[in-house]
Amino acid sequence: MAALQEKRSSEERKHKSVQNGAETSQGQWGRAWEVDWFSLASILFLLMFAPLIVYYFIMSCDQYQCSLINPLVDLLMGNTHLSDIWNKTPTLTYKAAGIYILWVTFQVILYVFIPDFCHKFLPGYVGGIQEGAVTPAGVVNKYEINGLQAWIITHVIWFANACYFHCFSPTIIFDNWIPLLWCANILGYVVSTFAMIKGYFFPSNAKDCKFTGNFFYDYMMGIEFNPRIGKWFDFKLFFNGRPGIVAWTLINLSYAAKQQELHGKVTNSMILVNVLQGIYVLDFFWNESWYLKTIDICHDHFGWYLGWGDCVWLPYLYTLQGLYLVYHPVQLGTANAVGILILGLAGYYIFRVTNHQKDLFRRTNGNCKIWGKKPEYIECSYTSVDGTKYYSKLMTSGFWGWARHFNYTGDLMGSLAYCLTCGFVHILPYFYIVYMAILLTHRCIRDEHRCFSKYGKDWKRYTTKVPYRLIPGIF
Ligand code: NDP
Repeated sequence: MAALQEKRSSEERKHKSVQNGAETSQGQWGRAWEVDWFSLASILFLLMFAPLIVYYFIMSCDQYQCSLINPLVDLLMGNTHLSDIWNKTPTLTYKAAGIYILWVTFQVILYVFIPDFCHKFLPGYVGGIQEGAVTPAGVVNKYEINGLQAWIITHVIWFANACYFHCFSPTIIFDNWIPLLWCANILGYVVSTFAMIKGYFFPSNAKDCKFTGNFFYDYMMGIEFNPRIGKWFDFKLFFNGRPGIVAWTLINLSYAAKQQELHGKVTNSMILVNVLQGIYVLDFFWNESWYLKTIDICHDHFGWYLGWGDCVWLPYLYTLQGLYLVYHPVQLGTANAVGILILGLAGYYIFRVTNHQKDLFRRTNGNCKIWGKKPEYIECSYTSVDGTKYYSKLMTSGFWGWARHFNYTGDLMGSLAYCLTCGFVHILPYFYIVYMAILLTHRCIRDEHRCFSKYGKDWKRYTTKVPYRLIPGIF
């Protein structure tokens, strides 16, 4: 069996790396071949506690008006027991299961059966069939980029229903939020487990599989690089973008509708959250082809981290501000609202321009202008598993000359803006900025480790030229 043979050669490669680290460092990239104790401990922690963290946040809004402290105080003081909290938690319902199955099936249909038509009439939009980056095994996958279309169709239906047809309430997501959580968990675990089994027994590309020999690490970080069913159903592209990110804006709209229903108005903070996060989501779909060149698609294998994360973590925790505002309808003063809007838009601008500069630079192989000048760069090379040598360039102009991940800095500014809309009474809405700061700092370190493995001494030259990661002069 191809995958099992590949598993054996993975082990041989691991031995080789112990004997000759330098050789492996130029020969491989992607996620780790070996698991250090810290990674293993983090993974076990996340596997055990991430579902509980999501439950705790959502439960605390449902039962404690979004206070994260009060459930703990109640438990410690003996005012309540875990069983009381659990008994008050809504269970899985047929209605929620029906909604969820319909939702995921609809997104699968939009993804698989409706080729992109947006690129035919939207100037500047890159959709339709696009190529991904070269995988470690030297494969170039093709993708059907039709996420923007899926997003538009879904939202047109949503608004048509809200304004004219009234087949379901616009608050349907909020009203079934916890029963839907169980459905999302089931899908997350089924998909991750299926991906693990598929990686062992029928991978889409055996040469791009990685086995560490540690079950938990492989389950979490994935074995297969680009699992697919058939020619077009790509797990990473589908689960990363839909159902999670298409749902993001719908979830926020559902929260706005609930605020209107409960409080008779939609506050400016809720509008800000909808607008700023809406821009972020639309940006994602407008640039879906660019997304094929980001770490999620280019480097991460598909395991629980992406499978469960996209089904549960993203839709439930990235939307906490809107959920909070249903329980606490904050009306911001004009100066605060404008300040938050400026911070959010400035963050978005930095995020977008930085990403665009790299994309333009890579697409044109450096034959472009960055801030009106020919970009400067460092020539670098790397080798794929089959020994083929490739050449690449690392840009040192534009925002990429300010810091090595200034796109993350912009992302963090935007994230902070979402949280600030909620005021300072509770810490729950601030989870997002704390989480993003940890995620992106860790991602930065992970990416740099990988880039060093990929480019070796060329990466060192780059870090000497651009010494800061996120904030020029500080970090
Ligand atoms: P980047 O887009 O920064 O991609 C990093 C890769 O770019 C590196 O691995 C390297 O890949 C290449 N690269 C690094 N430096 C240079 C350079 N100077 N010139 C040219 N290429 C370079 O990172 P991500 O894929 O992580 O992020 C993409 C965006 O997505 C970011 O803006 C981030 O903020 C956002 N994001 C958002 C998340 C969320 O949950 N909201 C989660 C993760 C990301 P190569 O091997 O090709 O050289």
